[in-house]
Formats: sequence, structure tokens, C-alpha cells
Amino acid sequence: MIKSNEFYSYNTKELPVGCQYCVMGEKIVLFITGKCPRKCYFCPVSDEKFGKDVTFANEKKVEDFSDVIQEAENMDAKGAGITGGDPLMTLDKTCEFITKLKKEFGKEFHIHLYTSLNLVSEKSLKQLYDAGLDEIRFHFDFDDKTFWDKISLASAFDWDIGVEIPLLPEKEKETKEMIDLIHDKVAFLNLNELERADNKLSKLDERGMKVKETYSYAIKGSMGLGFKLMKYVDEKKYDLKVHLCTAQLKDGIQLANRIKREGEHTAKKFDIVDDEGLLTRGALYLYHLKPGFDYRKKLAEVDKSKYIRKLKPLYDRIKKKFKLDDDEIYLDEEKPRILISRKLVKKKKAYFLGIDLFPAIVTEYPTADQLEIEVEFLE
Ligand code: SF4
Repeated sequence: MIKSNEFYSYNTKELPVGCQYCVMGEKIVLFITGKCPRKCYFCPVSDEKFGKDVTFANEKKVEDFSDVIQEAENMDAKGAGITGGDPLMTLDKTCEFITKLKKEFGKEFHIHLYTSLNLVSEKSLKQLYDAGLDEIRFHFDFDDKTFWDKISLASAFDWDIGVEIPLLPEKEKETKEMIDLIHDKVAFLNLNELERADNKLSKLDERGMKVKETYSYAIKGSMGLGFKLMKYVDEKKYDLKVHLCTAQLKDGIQLANRIKREGEHTAKKFDIVDDEGLLTRGALYLYHLKPGFDYRKKLAEVDKSKYIRKLKPLYDRIKKKFKLDDDEIYLDEEKPRILISRKLVKKKKAYFLGIDLFPAIVTEYPTADQLEIEVEFLE
């Protein structure tokens, strides 16, 4: 019987280095591009991102590299996991970001990257290696073996090599064939519990793969296959580290740890930070940009600079009236609004309403999108 580790996943031997950072929430997730040469029927990438050359650092849309630095600093990141799409679709940009991350945060900043085998060549691998990549993870196609042999190319470089795949219950035979091929070519095998995605590419339902419980996205039979494969590696005496990564680890532990880190590092002096890293703060909104129906859509569509220009004199006025220091009030340019302490917003709500600002107490994520958990208007 294989026992779960403290992160609710399962491993033989030690965890791959990239995973050791990941489970602690210490890695920034760099979604480098939505472009990909494949169209997997289990693809987890959202419709908004898939096929588009967009870049995100965690939840923050990246316009230039300074956004990546900002986000990494916000969570005091110790490394990065580069994903997509396929990062090899925009190889030059991927390499540029790896080099810049190493330059900014030092050699020890651990970087791993996921790629399908489609675009792998000696040349593309060399470019990644020369840029400073520490660990590479390959994603196999179980419907087409054309590129499988390319896995041998990776051992020409001194980095950690692994394979990372979702556990497709219908592909036991093919997955075992793959293990037979890779066992002496890579150091580790990461098996991910398969999860259903709400996007157009995902065809799991149509192929008869159902979720294991009503309120879960995890697919029935996926973990079962994972245990079988761990046993298979053991019986064959393959010298391979295996990590069976559960949906609970990815969605619970890893994300929760990352949010906690962001909460601790991005909180303003006046914020209350709870045990999960969520922030509770006082907020003053303009009428047109109050959270409510279609709030996210509005934020994406409006010209924010127009509202910031409106808020600036109000910010100056409040700061002067209540003799606030610079760290006691904040003009939020992402979600145009003024942030202050919960206490002040409660005590002076009549004043704020009098200058056409809508006072509220908000609890929200510390992530770049500052997703609201609760908004209590004090009207
Ligand atoms: S799962 Fe990965 S390789 Fe497959 S289509 Fe999605 S991004 Fe591309």
C-alpha cells in the first residue's frame, strides 16, 4: 500500500526539484504563450488563452518583463515553472525570459519548463540549456508516437529531465509502453490526476470519462491508473522517481501556499491578513465601478486612466483631511478605487458618501486579479 506524503500526493524516492518548490507555493507560474502545435482532448488551457500569444505571470497579464519581476517579488518567488501552450512555440521569448529571470534573481532561482515533444530538436534544446533552464519536463502524445524518440535528445545536456503526463484511464497500455521507453532516459515521471476543464478543447465527457464526485473536477479511474503505474515501475525495477500528483495537491496545497505567500508579501500596512493569505481592507468606489453584476467585464473594458484621474483629487483630499501617511492610503490603479483601513472606512462612511464615494469592506485574494470573496457596502 503506497502512503500519501504530507502534501496529499504520492511519491517513490524524493520529489523532483521543481516539485519541491512547487508544493510550497514558492514558484511563479509563467504562462508564456497560449500557442501550441497540439490540440489535446484533455487540454486544461482556457478558451481565452488557448492559441493566443498571451503571457501571464500567475494571474497577472504580462505586457513586458517588468510585470514578471513585480509578480515574482510579490510572492517572494524562489523559482519559476514555465508553461503554456507550448513554450517552444515562442522559443526566443521563452529563452529571453529565462535569461532575464536568472539575471534578476540569481543562479539559484530554479526554472523548470513543460513542453510537448513536437518542437523539440537538438537546436531548440541547446538554446534552452544555454539560456539557463534547470529542469525540462516532456509531455507525450498517446495517440501518435511520431515524436516519442526525440526524448533521447535531452540527455546531451546537464539538466534534470522528466516526463509529466495526465493520467488518462483509457491509455494504460500506451502509458506503460512510454514508461518502457523512457525509464533509462529520464530521472523522474510525474503522473497528474486528470481533471475536467470547462473549455472547448476538452472532450473528456464525450469519451466517457466522468468526474468521480459531483463537486469535483477529478476524473474517475485516473488515480487508480496512477497506482497501477507506480506498481508497474516497481515490478520492472526501473530506476525512476515517480510522483503521483493529486488534484488536491494542485488545487489545494500548492495554490493555497502560493496565496499565503502573496498575502504576506503584498499586504498594505492597513490590511488584515488571515491564515489563508486573504486580505480584508476598506475600499472606496466610484459609482460606475462598484463591484456587482458584470464588474469583471467592466474592469476589462473601461479606460481606467479616466477613473484614476477622477479619483486622484479625492485621494489627496482624504489623505489631507485624515492626516494619513503614504502607507495608510492607496490609490489602486488596477481596480480604480481608494484603499484605506477597515476601521476608517466604517467610522467615516457618512463623509465618504458625501463626496460620492461608496464605502465598503472587502475581503479578497492577494493575487494580481484581486478576486473578491466578500464585499459589504456600508450605505
Ligand atoms: S494539453 Fe498542453 S500540449 Fe496539449 S493542447 Fe493543451 S497546451 Fe498543448
